[in-house]
Amino acid sequence: MIRRALTQFMAGRYGGDQLNMFLIVVYVILCVIGLFVRWGILELIALVLVILCLFRSLSRNIDRRRAENAKFLQLARPIARRFSSFRARMGDRDHRYFKCPNCGQQMRVPRGKGRITVHCRSCGATFEEKS
Ligand SMILES: [Zn+2]
Repeated sequence: MIRRALTQFMAGRYGGDQLNMFLIVVYVILCVIGLFVRWGILELIALVLVILCLFRSLSRNIDRRRAENAKFLQLARPIARRFSSFRARMGDRDHRYFKCPNCGQQMRVPRGKGRITVHCRSCGATFEEKS
């Protein structure tokens, strides 16, 4: 019954998206920081985030909320990509990662092969690298 009432209440409203999820995560982080420091501004920001999150969830202006979320995703994409490549690297014990000294291109070599000659596919530079 509660479920049906909630479904009815949320009908035509925006609900959750990635931006709201992000706001909640930031809110939780602020709350955790708030356990250690006593900054009033932190609580104020946390409160604003919760209100913003609620407002967005309950909003009936779905087009506008979708546009906000799309903008957020566009801004967050490079950061998310960097984070996921970092995680992939941390899980990869078989390769050593480094940047090409000439062009900065991300490269990897198999671990434990001693000194090897590396050829950069991006700029064509050849150099020695410890693996
Ligand atoms: Zn290069």
